[in-house]
Amino acid sequence: MRAEVISIGDELTSGQRLDTNSQWISQRLADLGIRTLFHTTVADDLESNRVAFDTACRRAEVIVATGGLGPTADDLTRESLAGMLGVDLVLDEPSLVHIQQRFVKRSRPMPESNRIQAMFPAGTEPIYNPHGTAPGILGRQHSGTFYCLPGVPVEMREMWEATVEPSLIQLLGNQRRIIRHRRIKCFGVGESDLELMLPDLIRRGREPSVGITVSQATITLRITAVGKDDQQCFQAMKPTEETIRQCLKNVVFGEEDDELHHVVDRLLRKTGRRFASLEQGTRGLIAGWFAQLDETADTVPLSLVMQDPTSLARLGIDQQTDLTNSQAVMRLAILMQQQLGVDFAAVVGRLTRPLGTDDGICPCAIVGPGEQESFEARLIGHPEVVRPRIAKQVLNRVRLLLLKP
Ligand code: AMP
Ligand code: MG
Repeated sequence: MRAEVISIGDELTSGQRLDTNSQWISQRLADLGIRTLFHTTVADDLESNRVAFDTACRRAEVIVATGGLGPTADDLTRESLAGMLGVDLVLDEPSLVHIQQRFVKRSRPMPESNRIQAMFPAGTEPIYNPHGTAPGILGRQHSGTFYCLPGVPVEMREMWEATVEPSLIQLLGNQRRIIRHRRIKCFGVGESDLELMLPDLIRRGREPSVGITVSQATITLRITAVGKDDQQCFQAMKPTEETIRQCLKNVVFGEEDDELHHVVDRLLRKTGRRFASLEQGTRGLIAGWFAQLDETADTVPLSLVMQDPTSLARLGIDQQTDLTNSQAVMRLAILMQQQLGVDFAAVVGRLTRPLGTDDGICPCAIVGPGEQESFEARLIGHPEVVRPRIAKQVLNRVRLLLLKP
């Protein structure tokens, strides 16, 4: 079964408000095994709404729309549905009574405009709204069953739970499937190189499917399986996951919400080792990541962020602190390891970008038991990506050292 989600409102198409309903609804549809093929956002315009609904009802089997059900002149969902269906609006007595009662409870007279909220395109059904005046609308046209809900997120969600989801489950009958994902986290190679390392897993139409996304140099492989239940889905994903792990080996660092610092912290804990860092070019990203974890005192006793190298001298670190120099950066890493008595130490030097170029370098050094590694991270790409990438390169080297037997 294929779905389309329609979001209605000038505040959305004008960019004043972000459409969060579509995201929520699509996730819930996916939980039911229904794939969303289209998100349509449409302004408060009668003809545009009619076309949007008509198009959706031809290309999807489930249409969930939000917005445009209020009592004011810009709420046009009712009229546009009536236009699409070629029917009149008719009064639904029980809905009118419900709306009137809400005004009685608040000791206010019901404005005449609210009467429109009890009007429905002939042949459609109201969807009960316990906490608002606007009932939803359920109907059918072409191949589609449409559910129209209010735009207010809390009302929409409540009505989804109470009415739409049970109705969809009934609609699906024994066709019902669920969708489950697994995420495999990778670091250390580029996206296209990683794809080449995998035997045609990312091709369209494969079951289970494998998708690839990159965020700040971390690559996520998302395996998606459709099945009757959790067990069937995870069983179906297993061989794919094994293939990925075999092909990528150490490039895989974790799964689901894992980031490199989680994995490094776990490995330090497991091996009873400790790590300290000093950063200049990455402005404390590594320090910040570890600071967010609970109880890292045993594993990461110190993470320093340095703005002014001369401050090191005041700490009694008496040496040349030119952090654009690889050797100086390595000396500092060795000094940290010795003075702090930690097993691993890393220093991120200063970013230097020769004037007039996009490209630059940042010297980094990592020391471990009997190991010294230094590298010059290259500053290619947007600054927002460059810094996390360097911080992750450093942590990834620490991880690989920790994995050494
Ligand atoms: P409406 O049902 O069109 O009167 O919408 C009522 C209110 O719900 C709007 O003023 C927005 O604040 C909010 N809203 C409507 N649609 C959305 C949406 N797609 N995502 C998030 N909020 C929405
Ligand atoms: Mg609106």
